[in-house]
Amino acid sequence: MLLRALASIMVVTVLVAAVVAAASPQNPPSQAAAPTFDAARAFTHLKAMVDMGPRPSGSAALRQTRAYITRQIAAMGLTVQEQPFTATTPVGPVEMSNLIVTLPGRRPDRILFTGHYDTKLFKDFKFVGASDGASSGAFLIELVQALKDQPREFTYEFVWFDGEEAVANWNLNSDATYGSRFYVQQATKAGALSSIKALILVDMIGNKTLKIERDSYSAGWLNDIVWGAAKRLGKKQFVDVETTIEDDHVHFVRAGIPSIDIIDLNKYIEDGHWHTASDTLENVSAASLGVVGDVLLAALPDIVAYLKK
Ligand SMILES: [Zn+2]
Repeated sequence: MLLRALASIMVVTVLVAAVVAAASPQNPPSQAAAPTFDAARAFTHLKAMVDMGPRPSGSAALRQTRAYITRQIAAMGLTVQEQPFTATTPVGPVEMSNLIVTLPGRRPDRILFTGHYDTKLFKDFKFVGASDGASSGAFLIELVQALKDQPREFTYEFVWFDGEEAVANWNLNSDATYGSRFYVQQATKAGALSSIKALILVDMIGNKTLKIERDSYSAGWLNDIVWGAAKRLGKKQFVDVETTIEDDHVHFVRAGIPSIDIIDLNKYIEDGHWHTASDTLENVSAASLGVVGDVLLAALPDIVAYLKK
């Protein structure tokens, strides 16, 4: 007994010494501090976009939004690459552009972080898309900020899709998701699809009464990892309810790329704010952006570990 007690005291002493050594300035930790998501800063980006008014594809306000995103990224010392294209829509050709930021990793294999930054065109009322358009556009800016100085095994690519919204009637293949369809077409032509190992899509994540359900187009393992991270952090906004959402990720799913759509559509509909005049600042919050940011950053090491297997 005595011997065993002595042994455990020794173990404790060794452990304490190891912790002290790890924390001392002579032994700086080999890994960078865990990334943090600044929800208040993300919300300032959301507000800046909403302040530009309705931002449908092809509008001056959306060009202004592109310039805003480009300035924010430039302030981080990074460059936005534009991917312009002319979309054929029910109202004729519309000039659109995806925005891309790349953070190279040790491998060329990529994880894509994506969202849309356009808002749906409504002629009979003013639609500013605080959650539907601004939340994803703003979130991605802050996500670049959070991840840019982190060591990376995989290359991270951030893509702001233009033209997610339908110009007339929603149809995944002909009128909606113009930017993601164009992206996948181009990547297919360039033979670049196989280096995309996973796609993470965020959409409509600003809702004050955020409730995120598991989308059935999304890969089961990605849902499991993200919902697991939410549980660890006690983020009850991620609920164990299945739903099926048509969104930008579907084109990547069809191309065989494991994808996840983190979206609150059903609760926003229930609350009366989806595609209505009340998708405004009063109905979104920094806290909700922060919930998604915290969960995604907590899930990312597990996603990377899964892909490395
Ligand atoms: Zn929408």
